[in-house]
Amino acid sequence: MPRPLEFTQISSDAFKSWSRCKRQFFYKHVKKMQWPADIQHFRLGRDVHKLLDYQARGLDCTLLLENAPMDVRVSWQKLMAHPVAHLPVIANEWAFHVPMPTRQGFTEWLTGRIDRVARRDDTVLVIDWKTGTGVPRNPEVDWQTRLYLYALVEVAQTSSAADLNLNWNGPLQPEQVQFVYVEVKADSHSPVREVVVDYNTAKHEATRQTLSAIVSAMAVEEEYGLPDNRQCPDKFCAYRSICGIESLN
Ligand code: SF4
Repeated sequence: MPRPLEFTQISSDAFKSWSRCKRQFFYKHVKKMQWPADIQHFRLGRDVHKLLDYQARGLDCTLLLENAPMDVRVSWQKLMAHPVAHLPVIANEWAFHVPMPTRQGFTEWLTGRIDRVARRDDTVLVIDWKTGTGVPRNPEVDWQTRLYLYALVEVAQTSSAADLNLNWNGPLQPEQVQFVYVEVKADSHSPVREVVVDYNTAKHEATRQTLSAIVSAMAVEEEYGLPDNRQCPDKFCAYRSICGIESLN
């Protein structure tokens, strides 16, 4: 029976889980069963993102850096030596909620938070800082890439700059936008790496169709089954002890 979704926010991680394994999606995004996480796994990324947020606001980071761990300071120095960190900032930590009509007549909401939106010449960059984690293996088709590009263009085409809280005027065409992963490792030798994904109108419309189809499928799903091939697609999945995959193999 078609229905509004039982959860209110559809993130890039929800699309990843849905594509990977419906059972994982059910535990994580419908029932919201979250296992306690070790904060040490996120500390470096959290600290560097916080510093970048301060930098975007024009605040002095000196005191924070004096007391920061070495890996944070090394990452920070490398980022500050790279031009991408000094591009004019349009928005930082930009949270979006983009409506997505379903084929059943409901409206669901796509959500996320973009690390930074910046301008390089005539191009608007969707920047994602990668500290501690690497760039996705196939960035062009990664759900984060696709959702964030879609969201920025969609909102910029349908809202005023004031509504967006974006320092940007005029309609934004997909061809003017790029996604940039900026990877920085906390060592003294590896350079900061930029991975750029171009965007265009054809990709935007294809993403719209794909997202709409998936959100509509989410609205009628009732079984949330294990993968048809009985193979677990995620060796790091937290739900292995309860999902039933081990009893199938
Ligand atoms: S352990 Fe594997 S099969 Fe089980 S829920 Fe997670 S991803 Fe799916």
